Amino acid sequence: MQRVIIIGAGASGLMTALNISKDYEVIILDKNKSIAKKLLQTGAGKCNFWNEEITLNKYNTNNPQLLKEIINKDNQKHVLALFNEIGIIPKIKNGYFYPSSENAQTIKSAFLNSLGENVTIKDDFFVTDIKKENDKFLVFSKTTNLTCDKLVIATGSNASLKEPSFVAYNFLQQTNHNIRELLPALVGLRINDKALKSLAGLRIDVNLSLYENSQKKKTEIGQLQLTSYGLSGICTFNMSSIVARGLYNKKKEFIEINFLPFLPTTDYLEFFNKRNILMHKPEAKNLFETLLNYKLVNILFTLEKIPSSTKWEDLSISKQKSLIERFTNYKVEVIGTNSLLEAQTTTGGVSLEDINIKTMASKHLKNLYITGEILDVDGLCGGFNLAFAFITGYLAGQAITGDFYVKN
Ligand SMILES: Cc1cc2nc3c(=O)[nH]c(=O)nc-3n(C[C@H](O)[C@H](O)[C@H](O)COP(=O)(O)OP(=O)(O)OC[C@H]3O[C@@H](n4cnc5c(N)ncnc54)[C@H](O)[C@@H]3O)c2cc1C
Repeated sequence: MQRVIIIGAGASGLMTALNISKDYEVIILDKNKSIAKKLLQTGAGKCNFWNEEITLNKYNTNNPQLLKEIINKDNQKHVLALFNEIGIIPKIKNGYFYPSSENAQTIKSAFLNSLGENVTIKDDFFVTDIKKENDKFLVFSKTTNLTCDKLVIATGSNASLKEPSFVAYNFLQQTNHNIRELLPALVGLRINDKALKSLAGLRIDVNLSLYENSQKKKTEIGQLQLTSYGLSGICTFNMSSIVARGLYNKKKEFIEINFLPFLPTTDYLEFFNKRNILMHKPEAKNLFETLLNYKLVNILFTLEKIPSSTKWEDLSISKQKSLIERFTNYKVEVIGTNSLLEAQTTTGGVSLEDINIKTMASKHLKNLYITGEILDVDGLCGGFNLAFAFITGYLAGQAITGDFYVKN
């Protein structure tokens, strides 16, 4: 009987194992005593494992055309059907899929209950080296070595890990796989702006625009969290992959914040002139304090050097415009991202050009498969990263089994 070793008992490794037929002996190795550790942390323990709209624009990669093939509708349909088969009933909120229990353990259990008798999991098995000799792969830990006919690398990335592992990256690099620089993604953004940092703890609904040099790269609407280091919250996380890569390539990264995205018009001057009349000409500050958090209003008035008692009509039109600009177009330079340890995922990884996108097989080494987050693909918040891990695991498992559903 041929042996398949899967390194990594995370989302993509478990999905691969589930799809390998009983004709193979399957061994899943994981360095942790308790497997699927990251999976259990996802979605704050609720596991946002999928999304209703898995499309190319939800991902960053160097090879969008190849990614498009991997996440195609057919593959999505097959993986969703498989979830159903192993008893995962989704609860869908704003397009985000969670297990109906809203407990990540449900997903882990569903996989463990469904793995065949041919599958063994060896936990606490830290792979320290990988070699290929003749037709066999050799997988080493400090104390043991194992051989196999087919190897699946499903080791994920080092994001959020206190003890990173580079074994898989090193092996892949040595065997001619191209690895795009690994940088943190889905992570907070660092700024120098003292005014915003002094508001640490504040959460505000905003519209954000990300500019690289002078080019607009992305817009996001959502809740911004101000922190002692800078900006956090899903809307900034979703920009962090672009920011990390831009800064790595020595580009300037700026974010423009509109603190008033909910106003019924963008003719702000007219809006505040009317509001001033409607509110019986209060202090100018009051026009804003009745729309936004007073601490934010105070800071922005201070930056504009407008004394508290000033009335709207006492401000010159250019001062009114400049004040409005502070509230609707607050420009802040991003000087860095938080570290990989604080990140949810990694941007960069093994190039999709180095794998067969229908089977996840390496183009450089026969019988090697590469799945999940170790690849050069990172998704936005919303279940896209797990979806990618599951789809690629599915493709590899199906391909190893030999009865791949796409007959070429
Ligand atoms: C806090 C947090 C929250 C997240 N929330 C979400 C979310 O809600 N939705 C979403 O889609 N994504 C989320 N993600 C991202 C998601 O968890 C990952 O993209 C996904 O788990 C990747 O799956 P994977 O199988 O490629 O890797 P992993 O799930 O990381 O599995 C890799 C496995 O390989 C093992 N391994 C690595 N190196 C070795 C070695 N040398 N020897 C032996 N074993 C090894 C690891 O121990 C690990 O178990 C979150 C991530 C974090 C950190």
